[in-house]
Amino acid sequence: MAKKQFQAESKRLLEMMINSIYTQREIFLRELISNASDAIDKIYYKALTDDNLVFNKEDYYIRITADKTNRTLTISDTGIGMNKEELENNLGVIAKSGSLAFKNENELKDGHNIIGQFGVGFYSAFMVADQVTVMTRALGSDEAFKWESTGADGYTVVADEKETVGTDIVLKIKDNTEEDSYDEFLEEYRLKAIIKKYSDFIRYPIKMDVKIS
Ligand code: ADP
Ligand code: MG
Repeated sequence: MAKKQFQAESKRLLEMMINSIYTQREIFLRELISNASDAIDKIYYKALTDDNLVFNKEDYYIRITADKTNRTLTISDTGIGMNKEELENNLGVIAKSGSLAFKNENELKDGHNIIGQFGVGFYSAFMVADQVTVMTRALGSDEAFKWESTGADGYTVVADEKETVGTDIVLKIKDNTEEDSYDEFLEEYRLKAIIKKYSDFIRYPIKMDVKIS
C-alpha cells in the first residue's frame, strides 16, 4: 500500500524529534497523556449539552501498558476517538493549535529550545519509538481505523476492528544503541516518575499495567 506523505512542516518536526537529545525524551509521555485527557474532556463537555450522552466517571480513564517482551508501550484512552478524516487531518499535519505556528525559523532550527519549553504534541512519540500505531474508534461510530508510521517516510491508514470507543497508541520502543538506552521507557518505576513529574494534574485516572513476559 502506498504511503501518504507528511506535510513539509510536520516532516521537519518529525526529524527534530527523531534526533532529539537524551534529556528531552521523557516528555513524550506528557504529550500523549495530555492528548488522551483532551479526548476524554471532549466527551465530558459533549455530555453536558447532549441528553443522550451520560458521562459515568468510572468509564473514563487512561491506561499505560508496558510490554518488555515485545518492547511496546501503549497509551490507551476511553476518549472521543477519531474518524478516518480526523485521523488524516490531525496526525498527518501539525495541529492548528500546535505551538509551532508562532515560532520563527531560527527557533525551529534550534529544535532543542522548542522541545524543552513548548508542547510539541503527538510527534514527540518518535523520540522514543521507531514505529507508532494509532488504533481509534470515534464516539458514535462502529468503524475503527489504524494509522501507522515509522517516521519521516510517511504513514498509512487502514480499516481496523476495535470493540470500544477511544484510542490506543502503541509505541514500538527503539532498540538500544551504543550511545543510547531506551529500556527505561518500559520500566514501571521510571514511567511512574515521569507521570508524577508532568501529569500530576490530569483529572482522569491513569492506570498502569506492566507485562513482564
Ligand atoms: P494538540 O494537542 O496541540 O492539538 P497534538 O499533536 O498533540 O496537538 O495532537 C494533534 C491532534 O490529534 C489533537 O488536536 C487531536 O485532535 C488528535 N489526537 C491526538 N491524540 C488523540 C487521542 N488520544 N484521542 C483523540 N484525538 C487525538
Ligand atoms: Mg497535544
